[in-house]
Amino acid sequence: MATMRVVQVSRPDGPFEIVERQIPEPSIGAVRIKVLACGICHSDSLVKDGGVPGIQYPRVPGHEVAGIIDAVGPGVVGWARGQRVGVGWHGGYCGSCDHCRRGELFACVTGQITGLTADGGYAEYMIAPVSAVARMPSELPPVEAAPLMCAGITTFNALRNSGARPGDVVAVLGLGGLGHLGVQYAAKMGFHTVGIARGIEKEPLARQLGASVYIDSQAQDPAAELLKLGGARVILATATSGEAMSAVQGGLAVNGTLLIVGAATSMQVSPLLLLGGRRSIKGWYSGTSIDSEETLAFSANTGVRSMNEIFPLESVTEAYDRMTSGKARFRVVLRMEQ
Ligand SMILES: [Zn+2]
Ligand SMILES: [Zn+2]
Repeated sequence: MATMRVVQVSRPDGPFEIVERQIPEPSIGAVRIKVLACGICHSDSLVKDGGVPGIQYPRVPGHEVAGIIDAVGPGVVGWARGQRVGVGWHGGYCGSCDHCRRGELFACVTGQITGLTADGGYAEYMIAPVSAVARMPSELPPVEAAPLMCAGITTFNALRNSGARPGDVVAVLGLGGLGHLGVQYAAKMGFHTVGIARGIEKEPLARQLGASVYIDSQAQDPAAELLKLGGARVILATATSGEAMSAVQGGLAVNGTLLIVGAATSMQVSPLLLLGGRRSIKGWYSGTSIDSEETLAFSANTGVRSMNEIFPLESVTEAYDRMTSGKARFRVVLRMEQ
C-alpha cells in the first residue's frame, strides 16, 4: 500500500511528528494534491499551540500550499490531473448557507480552514475540496508561489479592495512577512507607497521593494509624517502591534481607512479622529480561491515575489522555530523532496 510522509501535531503544544500515512483518496468534489512546497505561517501556531477550541488532533498544519493535482475525486468538473495548483487559508465553502448564497463565500458557516479543520500542506499529499483550489501560473516555482497563498493574498486582496486609487498615498505599516509583500503590491498597483517600520536600517529594503517614502517610526512620528504627504488614503497595518497601529491612525486622510491584516490583540482608537474626518478602521479576510489565483497571476505578471528561507520537510521543527523567532527574512517555506 502506497504511503506518504506527513508532519502531524498530536496534541496542543505537542511536537511535530513525521509519520507515514496511507495516501488518501479524494472524495466527492475534492482533489488530491502532490504537495511541492508549503509555507510556514504564524497562524500555524493555532494548531501547534492549540490556540482555538475544537481542533481535532492529530492534525497536519499548513495553508500555504503549492503543488500538482495528482488524483481527481468523483463529480469534479474543470480540474484535471497534472494541473499546477495552490491552496490557502480558505479551505472551501458549502454553497448553500446564507453567506454563500449572498456571494460572501469567505464567511461560509462551515468555517473550513486548510491545515486547521482539515489536514494541510506539511505533507507529501493532501486532499482539498475544489472550492479551495487556485490555478498556479507556470512561471511561478512552487517555493515562490507557496507564501503568496497566505501572506501574498492577504496583502494583495486587502489593497485591491481598499478603495485606494492609483496615485493615492498608501502606507504599509510593518516590513515583515506580510509587509514586504504589501509594499511591493502597493507600488505595482500604482499607489504613492509609504513604508513604515522601526529603524533607519530598514529604509534601503523599503525602497528596494518599491516604497517612494520611508518613515522610521522610532525616530519620527509616523502620523505627522503621513499628514505632510496630505494624509494616507489607506494604511495597511501588517504589524501585529496594537501600539504601532494606534500611533499611525492620526496619519489618515479624510475618508481614509486603517486596514488591518495583522493579528494584534488590541489597540487604542480615537473616536474623535474617526468621526471628525469620516475615517474608518476595518479588518480584511485574506480571500477565497479565485482571489488566490489572481494574487498568483498578478505576482507572476508584475514580478512581486516573497523573500523566502527554504527548508526540507524533515527540518520542520527548525523551520518552524525560525518562523517564530521573527528573524526569518521573510517567509519560511518547506520544500518537499521532488
Ligand atoms: Zn497564514
Ligand atoms: Zn456556506
